[in-house]
Amino acid sequence: MSDPYSNMKLVDENGVRLDGRRLDELRPIRIEAGVLNRADGSCYLEWGNNKVLVGVYGPREVHPKHMQNPLRGIVQARYNMASFSVSERKRPGPDRRAVEISKITSEALEAVVLVDQFPRTTVDVYIEVLEASAGTRCAGLTAASVALADAGIPMKDMVVAIASGKIGDHLALDIGRAEDNFGQADVPFGVIPRTGEIVLLQMDGHLTKEEFETVIEMNMRAAMQVYELQKAALVRRYSAFAGLAPGEESEPAAPAAAPVATGPMAAAPVAELGHPEGFKEPLAPPPVDAKVEAVLVEGEAAPEVEGEEVEEPNGDDEASSGGGY
Ligand code: UDP
Repeated sequence: MSDPYSNMKLVDENGVRLDGRRLDELRPIRIEAGVLNRADGSCYLEWGNNKVLVGVYGPREVHPKHMQNPLRGIVQARYNMASFSVSERKRPGPDRRAVEISKITSEALEAVVLVDQFPRTTVDVYIEVLEASAGTRCAGLTAASVALADAGIPMKDMVVAIASGKIGDHLALDIGRAEDNFGQADVPFGVIPRTGEIVLLQMDGHLTKEEFETVIEMNMRAAMQVYELQKAALVRRYSAFAGLAPGEESEPAAPAAAPVATGPMAAAPVAELGHPEGFKEPLAPPPVDAKVEAVLVEGEAAPEVEGEEVEEPNGDDEASSGGGY
């Protein structure tokens, strides 16, 4: 398919994109877990110029009751773009696009939440896009996974999502705003890293079978980098409280020195990417609030999750509505 926007040069002769990235380079990503006091779990994520805030409540009883499933719980995600998130003021309230994104996000998250452990309940996930710059559904899903883990919701893993595609006749990782508008194809993709199961897959535009397979491979590799950031955000969130007596307060974990530096994708073969370094047990909400920051600095190993102290979920918290199970 020829590019209808041939005047818009999305990739130069040196393979450099409009925002200075190489074709296999992610936008800078920053993830913080536990940023809201009132929600059971929360996450703030910046991905390039996207800014996304997620709050999670539950598991709590489903209302209206006819939506209750006696055999399992449900996950209800609501994706919302703030009116000020785009340059043209967005009309408040849900539109068809938001309904669609909420649906696919709910379905992707239900694949990792252990819903059979809390029948008749719902886990509510509120995704607020504060600034949008392409890839917001993936940013929202990625942040929602961290917020669910932060809430202590039993999960088999998190979901990592990313959208790659084709721009100026080149396959490119992590499609940006102009690339989304003027590119040839966009493939939003969500994966469960521990199993390799794909839980979100959409495509806008046209790719050959070979191009599609390459894009999936690019997404898969990059997702593993983002997975490390998700885990690092949670490790920092919880290690901030390690060794403290109940009620004892400490300074939040020190943020890493540099903001974010992402390099080219690690050249790990896809077969090595389903690394089960995730959460085998539910995490409990920490006793006090703190802001933590996860950054990926090129060449720096992400902290390990294994060996983290795991507590039972605390249903006594005023903000928690976990009494439904
Ligand atoms: N967008 C916008 N107004 C809208 C919807 C989308 O300006 O009402 C922009 C926004 O920057 C968004 C981008 O278009 O990130 C791409 O939207 P798309 O529907 O492809 O979803 P996304 O890539 O954000 O998941």
